[in-house]
Amino acid sequence: MSNLAGSSHPTRPAIAWIGLGIMGSPMSENLIKAGYQVTGFTLEQDKLDRLAAAGGTAAGSIAEAVKDADVVITMVPASPHVEAISYGPDGILENAKAGALLIDMSSITPQTSVDLAKAAKDKGIRVLDAPVSGGEAGAVEAVLSIMVGGEQADFDQAKPIFEALGKTIVLCGPHGSGQTVKAANQLIVAVNIQACAEAVVFLEKSGVDLNAALDVLNGGLAGSTVLTRKKDNFLNRDFKPGFRIDLHHKDMGIVTDAARNVGAALPVGAVVAQLVASLRAQGDGGLDHSALLRAVERLSGAQV
Ligand code: NAD
Repeated sequence: MSNLAGSSHPTRPAIAWIGLGIMGSPMSENLIKAGYQVTGFTLEQDKLDRLAAAGGTAAGSIAEAVKDADVVITMVPASPHVEAISYGPDGILENAKAGALLIDMSSITPQTSVDLAKAAKDKGIRVLDAPVSGGEAGAVEAVLSIMVGGEQADFDQAKPIFEALGKTIVLCGPHGSGQTVKAANQLIVAVNIQACAEAVVFLEKSGVDLNAALDVLNGGLAGSTVLTRKKDNFLNRDFKPGFRIDLHHKDMGIVTDAARNVGAALPVGAVVAQLVASLRAQGDGGLDHSALLRAVERLSGAQV
């Protein structure tokens, strides 16, 4: 097992963070607050400036970010982005140190994670897939659920890092298992949002006080983290992301494919996947996934 304590801080590994978006920015900042030295790279200059202002180091390329890192963490949108940053002469595998640990926290296909772990092994780089749930608020508050796939020893080494980012941290099985569990997570979240959206339209059309109704519903068996986190989005029609419909469309594709591969039927998930796709086709892909409410409103005759 390689030594991860190579940074200027005697007990904490030096971290490279690739992908400083809605999730990556607050997560990397939580590592800085926990005392880690973080060097980051992302495509937007304002996000690099934000990292530097938080006490991190902005790098000019992936190669520059990862060359001295003990741990490389990636948080980019989808499988093609993970492949683009990992492979090729400018990618992580060519430029990170042998012995480094690569933790991909993006939500991608399980097969992409399995392939990445295999390719990295040839370079002496260990890999964990570690997608998260909890949304932007969970990232900011460091209360994410982190579902991990990979080797036990690598998980044990990464645990202190995960503890600075989340609260529920579970090794789910070998490479790709974290992504499989995340796919199930996205199925549950989408169906839950859809059910909440349908309830909101039904309650409003029935003339009930929506605020009061959602509060009492959330105290019973219908309650959920979705209802807690998204109640204000529904009440105020505030669909600023958050978690974009575009990304949930990607995740519904992942879970649909993965379920087909193992012969699992997802009848309700298939319908909700179509509703997400429809919302996206109508130009709402950049909105928060609570905008599924707009799809239900349109189906119910509203001009939104
Ligand atoms: P985002 O679009 O806000 O951020 C993605 C970041 O990746 C951007 O800053 C972009 O610059 C960077 N990136 C893309 N290609 C790159 C490249 N070639 N080199 C360097 N940087 C590159 O996305 P997000 O909402 O932060 O989501 C990231 C991942 O986390 C996705 O897989 C998403 O499904 C997952 N996720 C998001 C949420 C959420 O609520 N937003 C919650 C859980 C999981």
